[in-house]
Amino acid sequence: MNFLMSSDKVLEDLSIQIKETANDCELYRKRCNEVEYDFDATLKESTLGEIPYIPWGFFKQSNSMFKGLLRGNTFDKLDYWMESSSTCGDPSIVGRLDKDIEVLKANYNAVFNSFSKKETVNNLILFAPDMRIINKIRHNFYGKNAYLLYKSIVDIWEGRNVNFLLQFFLRKTIWKMVTTFKARAVIGINGELLKSELKRVEKNKIPTIMANSPLWMHRVLKDYYQKEKKAFDLSDHFYIITGGGGWDGTKGRVKLGYRVKKSEFIEQMCDMFNITLDKFCDNFAATESPMACGGHWSKHYNDFILHVNKDQGRIVVRDIETLEPIKETGKLGLLELITPYGVDSYAGVAVLLDDIVQVENWERCPECGREGAIFRVLGRLTPSIGKGCSSLFSLDAFKL
Ligand SMILES: [Zn+2]
Repeated sequence: MNFLMSSDKVLEDLSIQIKETANDCELYRKRCNEVEYDFDATLKESTLGEIPYIPWGFFKQSNSMFKGLLRGNTFDKLDYWMESSSTCGDPSIVGRLDKDIEVLKANYNAVFNSFSKKETVNNLILFAPDMRIINKIRHNFYGKNAYLLYKSIVDIWEGRNVNFLLQFFLRKTIWKMVTTFKARAVIGINGELLKSELKRVEKNKIPTIMANSPLWMHRVLKDYYQKEKKAFDLSDHFYIITGGGGWDGTKGRVKLGYRVKKSEFIEQMCDMFNITLDKFCDNFAATESPMACGGHWSKHYNDFILHVNKDQGRIVVRDIETLEPIKETGKLGLLELITPYGVDSYAGVAVLLDDIVQVENWERCPECGREGAIFRVLGRLTPSIGKGCSSLFSLDAFKL
């Protein structure tokens, strides 16, 4: 017993967490009973697919089941809900207590440190709003506010010099109110701040990370490039972290109306900043699970390869029609995230997502040597919804 390998430890912890979740969450207990799950069976890598999972739909606001996914007395102690920014109009809602939020943050940190240079870089350009705006974008469910997941994790950048590029545009907001009779905020990128910051970073060779939705970066920087006809030489000290998906043309309650091909994005950024492919990091994460999968660019696949950190958890990939686990590589399926850590507050031990992925290797990454499964994200089962969404954000606000 003294020589338990970490994989055995994760599987042991999983067994316990499944049992305890079934004990203090009625909804999960029902899922277990439906499939007559044997709680005493020894979990193996080959039997992870038998774990009762929660499908993504259970977390959707419209299904009103998310409160039932909380464990024990979580609801009484809950400060606020976390809301996904991934689905337009019908977000996922997750309740988490501090202890679970800390695990989620640690997982994101692990990705940013391992696949990028978070630890050593003190300057940031975030294509994101600051807390004043985040605190204004909220819903309320069962008497508790719901904020974007981002609110809970923005403090992982605490102590750094952060340039928040998303801002309110007052004039546009008033214009919208006048033209549509709706009090709708217009948020956009602060172009002047972006421009001056990039110049400062280039001139003083300041190590800098630029991060968040690739769609924002792509569109705004393309406009900049075309207008200024200027590239930067930021080689050696400029890193780009993309995350939150957004490759499929929608981001949160934002309808951007076009797609960005990952390869096109990479090429554009390399040209514009004179950086190499090793400066890119992609982070795959979902509001419904605390796991975070780091990715680097692969020339071979012309795509980001995402890595499952075996200390965090495991994945299962399910056939889109039958939902049976797929054991082979190179076959499309739905991604399920499985972890015993960071899910003490809600039934998140195994969550089936609507992301369509393909595992390229179950053991390790042949390119960087990291242990654990590697996969690529190739689509989404739920069509990205644009219709019926209020256009809360505007990209036209970009002016230099
Ligand atoms: Zn790799």
